[in-house]
Amino acid sequence: MDASDELRSLEATGIYRLAGSRAAFVDPVRLLGESYRRFRLVPSAYYSRSFGPSRQGGEAQAEGTAPSPDRKKRKRKRQTKARELNAVERIAEARHQEARPLLISAHNSLLDAKYLLEYLPGMIKGDECRPELETSSENNFVELGGSWRAPFYEMTICFQKPLGQDEAGTCDVQKRSSPLFNRVVRVEENGEAEGEFQGRLYVLPKGSCFMMTDFTHVRDLIPDNPNTGYNLIVIDPPWENGCVRQKEAYPTLPNRNLLYLPVQELAHPAGALVVLWITNREKLRRFVEEELLPSWGVKDPTEFYWLKVKSDGSLIGDLDLFHHRPYECLLLGYINVNREAESGSKFKVLQGSQVIMSVPGAHSRKPPLQKILSEYIPGPKPPRCIELFARELGSGWTSWGNEPLHFQDSAYFSKK
Ligand code: SAM
Repeated sequence: MDASDELRSLEATGIYRLAGSRAAFVDPVRLLGESYRRFRLVPSAYYSRSFGPSRQGGEAQAEGTAPSPDRKKRKRKRQTKARELNAVERIAEARHQEARPLLISAHNSLLDAKYLLEYLPGMIKGDECRPELETSSENNFVELGGSWRAPFYEMTICFQKPLGQDEAGTCDVQKRSSPLFNRVVRVEENGEAEGEFQGRLYVLPKGSCFMMTDFTHVRDLIPDNPNTGYNLIVIDPPWENGCVRQKEAYPTLPNRNLLYLPVQELAHPAGALVVLWITNREKLRRFVEEELLPSWGVKDPTEFYWLKVKSDGSLIGDLDLFHHRPYECLLLGYINVNREAESGSKFKVLQGSQVIMSVPGAHSRKPPLQKILSEYIPGPKPPRCIELFARELGSGWTSWGNEPLHFQDSAYFSKK
């Protein structure tokens, strides 16, 4: 495919594969948009934290922020450089040095993709102006779910049933009420629904399913029939970390609690690809590789990187900044799949690291992965997918966490 074909593919599919590198650029707005017929995601609402272009020879600076945090980072970098790295930091640095050539090659291929770079600023702005989201008036599901009233909260779900084959496409609007917390809520396959709760509307994609509960109820997700288990299991835990604490973004969980996630029981007997987002902390990495993944039955994980870029294609920060890497890692491995035996089967067994690049959205919001990983997912097609600690929904997905409706607020959408 030449560059303009790839650009057409990005517009149609949300993915631009970069020639000559193990890397792809993705547009999460396009990828998530595939779950909706009557609504579209508003790019300026998704890319709410848009990063301005680099200053000459300088580092990244988020639009509208004061320069002081940047100065703090540079000071910390100088301090880290000035003192000797301790033993754990040296291991982290060696890991970074190992990843560096792949990350640089991926980024260089993005900078060589001139058509894509010209397309990016328009892609993140879109053609709709959206006022700032009123975060203060959003429902705080984490708080509501923890209150004694939680079992009594209900969401009114409105969905449109087509009345037949008439040309006008007339619909009958039907309503049902569903408990909001501690229950599985399913949306029909034939069209998205709108959920009303405490004066706000939530857009619920067709064929999606969610359960809004605390960790203590996570075992309710285990299917009665193993054949309804999952082929893709994405896990983005609320790892304990200073940045989340500082921003008070969401509650965190002690790392060892994750040993109790029933990942093996959620896996489909025909195989599951497990994707775990991790932070760049070396201690966490060791815990994950030595204890957590083995306890879930995941062996020999492959590492992918999510490299974050700005609207001009430059990195959101200095690649070598010790405490603020402009990339995040994800570990991918299989359950119920023997890599050797499966090498001739219908799905491609993961081999080697890859880089996914995108312009980041809200704090900690990860790019959607199903499409880019589709060829590596074992089991029946379409795959059954689940996200643990989710903040949004998707067609064909079960989303679990204490706030899976967070990004379904109608403020992030417009009607087609
Ligand atoms: N993957 C998400 C995204 O792309 O937007 C981000 C997930 S964020 C890292 C972790 C999520 O876990 C937050 O929504 C947080 O509220 C949730 N969480 C924290 N403690 C939890 C608990 N005890 N039970 C369930 N969910 C919890």
